[in-house]
Amino acid sequence: MLARPAPSYSHNYDASLIERLLFRVAKRWVAGYNAHEAIEAAAIDTNSHGMSAILNFLGEDITDAKLVDMTVNEYLLLMDLIHARGVHGCVSVKPTQLGLTIDYNTCLQNFSRLAAKARELGQFIWLDMESVKSTEDTIAIYLDLYKQYDMIGLAVQSYLHRSASDLLHIIESGGKVRLVKGAYHEAEEHVFVKDEEVNANYLKLMKMLFESDNYFAIATHNSDLIEEAISMGKNTKFEFQMLKGIRDELKLELVKKGFVVSEYIPYGSQWLPYSVRRIMERKRNLLLLVRSLIQQ
Ligand SMILES: Cc1cc2nc3c(=O)[nH]c(=O)nc-3n(C[C@H](O)[C@H](O)[C@H](O)COP(=O)(O)OP(=O)(O)OC[C@H]3O[C@@H](n4cnc5c(N)ncnc54)[C@H](O)[C@@H]3O)c2cc1C
Repeated sequence: MLARPAPSYSHNYDASLIERLLFRVAKRWVAGYNAHEAIEAAAIDTNSHGMSAILNFLGEDITDAKLVDMTVNEYLLLMDLIHARGVHGCVSVKPTQLGLTIDYNTCLQNFSRLAAKARELGQFIWLDMESVKSTEDTIAIYLDLYKQYDMIGLAVQSYLHRSASDLLHIIESGGKVRLVKGAYHEAEEHVFVKDEEVNANYLKLMKMLFESDNYFAIATHNSDLIEEAISMGKNTKFEFQMLKGIRDELKLELVKKGFVVSEYIPYGSQWLPYSVRRIMERKRNLLLLVRSLIQQ
């Protein structure tokens, strides 16, 4: 167990009663307020169940240069803690946390700092994909970094019309992809709107990944898509990725069957908007929240 050093800046938080109650529900999806809690969740809840951890410090669209620097330092700290605690895992970072909203080069330089650190420690870095405003720049940053660092991967969203051609380009460059459906509200001109279309495109992109020689991740909780991946995936190197607190039994079944499974674990003071998104995804989660508030 690590000695507990000074708390990371995300810890400085005076929660009100209502926030404390909400946080009790949110704990299903987020690890806590600071990097130390995230590391302990990764070691105790995730690694001990045979899964790898992907740690994300919550936050996005940062336009203040000082906050961007603090975020870079948070991720550097997180990587040190992963190493020191012997956690099997890595970090996943949103480009707009590292300055993409400010300017492209700031973001690229910040990612280079993290990538250099990751290489020193033998760790992997995932780049999350955000709204369509940043897709072009995020892919360019990824491919730029990938020329120097091969232990990095990029999320690609199946709801975007453009993703098949992006994926082809990334595969040809040797890149490593995490395939997701996509989580942002986008204008109809950019996305497949119907669930069936998003799933069909997911399947198409998944086939492209299975036909490539590159390492990749199937990041979904959808049973049909997971079954398809299992049937396509014999003798292929890939992993399943799911979010903390969602489909926990399925994760363990996949581990039992011998698949590599990683759990995405967010943490930080921005836990509320993230948890609200998880709650709104499913009616049953809303009931869970109401029940937990009534029981107080
Ligand atoms: C590891 C990981 C990384 C991700 N990274 C990104 C990223 O970089 N960029 C991005 O845009 N999106 C990202 N996402 C989110 C993704 O785009 C989807 O919004 C999200 O995964 C929901 O889609 P789904 O494929 O799981 O299918 P869904 O059809 O939404 O869900 C399938 C099933 O999973 C269960 N389920 C789903 N959500 C919940 C919930 N909240 N509570 C309980 N059960 C639930 C239900 O049983 C549901 O029927 C990521 C997702 C994962 C798993």
